Amino acid sequence: MAPYLIFARNLNMKHVTVIGAGTMGNGIAHVFAQYGYDVVLCDISEKALEKALATIDKNLGRMVEKGKITAEDHKASLARIKTQTSMAEAVKDAELAIEAATENLDLKLKIFKELDGCAPEGCILATNTSSISITKIASATKRPSMVIGMHFMNPVPVMRLVEVIRGYSTKGEVCATIMEITKAIDKIPVEVYDYPGFVTNRILMTMINEAIYTLFEGVGNVDEIDGIMRLGMAHPMGPLQLADFIGLDVCLSILRVLYDGFGNQKYAPCPLLINMVNAGQLGVKSGEGFYDYSKGGKELVVSQKFLQRFKHD
Ligand code: NAD
Repeated sequence: MAPYLIFARNLNMKHVTVIGAGTMGNGIAHVFAQYGYDVVLCDISEKALEKALATIDKNLGRMVEKGKITAEDHKASLARIKTQTSMAEAVKDAELAIEAATENLDLKLKIFKELDGCAPEGCILATNTSSISITKIASATKRPSMVIGMHFMNPVPVMRLVEVIRGYSTKGEVCATIMEITKAIDKIPVEVYDYPGFVTNRILMTMINEAIYTLFEGVGNVDEIDGIMRLGMAHPMGPLQLADFIGLDVCLSILRVLYDGFGNQKYAPCPLLINMVNAGQLGVKSGEGFYDYSKGGKELVVSQKFLQRFKHD
């Protein structure tokens, strides 16, 4: 078992606030609490907070079943998490605030302006954004040198990578602290600079978009495209299945950030992706994308829409 309390104390940082208690926020709160930090989880929705605590409880329970932590660790970790709907209350003792609210530029700018106004002076302000410019988010504050990207992967308790993104003004020592704290929660930080899509989504979304183009052009069908990437490239999931898992609307919005940011045609979202999003066919969360999840999604069933394709003969 990881000696997490020792790691946490070495950093002299104890209080972490997580803003946004959705998919990512609950995972981030879980991991910090598991490694000995006092966590305040903040959301505008009481319901989201309740759901987040239930999810963390369930996921910690699973770790006990797998022998990764003890039942005492489970109880102690859960006890370290407090919830709050007022941001000012949530960050009053914070040394690090990590924002994981909905991916929307205006919302992030509003949250960072407010955070800057109520977080203690030395508090580092991090964002878990998948695609929005860290430099832009930092511009909403009077402490841009203290703003940084901390891009966790989903599911947070399982995935070890954290992409650490330095904005244009981020101080070196802030970056060094974030690299250290990431290691203290047993994750692996990789530092990159702030350009559209960072590294993860610039490469991943370009691959997903290309997979959708190959389907759109009839080069291969859903099974063939995903099968080739699984079998030939040792990817655990094909790109079309992965797009369904991420959400086709999310993929489209990240591709638009890449296209706007670089002005390069190679990032233009495939018209098929745009059509699917407009039709509300968003992948797992809507019940159908490239695959059909209406029967629970245990078995991978190609959507009726993609059973036939253009044939040369
Ligand atoms: P989500 O929709 O599951 O959760 C967002 C939460 O933010 C909701 O509970 C909502 O109530 C809350 N929220 C909205 N406005 C708020 C405010 N003003 N103050 C506090 N809370 C507020 O979203 P998610 O999937 O957890 O994504 C969160 C962030 O993480 C986004 O920036 C997203 O791009 C990024 N991200 C997501 C994934 C993923 O796979 N889902 C992966 C990496 C990064």
